[in-house]
Amino acid sequence: MSLIFCRECGIKVSEYAKSCNNCGYSIQNYHHQKRENETVKYNNSAWIISGYLTPFLALLLHPMFVLVALFIGSFNIVKGNYVHGLIQIAISIFFGIIGVFVNLFLFIL
Ligand SMILES: [Zn+2]
Repeated sequence: MSLIFCRECGIKVSEYAKSCNNCGYSIQNYHHQKRENETVKYNNSAWIISGYLTPFLALLLHPMFVLVALFIGSFNIVKGNYVHGLIQIAISIFFGIIGVFVNLFLFIL
């Protein structure tokens, strides 16, 4: 059994208690919110990882993946992950240009 701090009054409460002994704040509510926050974090990292992987797909498979990568990059910016989003957009444009040249080169050959 572990103790957590009540969000309302700050005293230590058992994590299995339904509500705080001191102020009556609902601890179950706290667990619920915590789980929701963790889900949001998990979803964000999934988007960030795919934002870095998609540009490589553009390089390896088809330049069209650059559009997907740009979309995911902008999506990450909209979600507040500015640094990752901007890096991903930069990589996407860079790989997109390389991808087009590689395809032209293969076409000419
Ligand atoms: Zn309390």
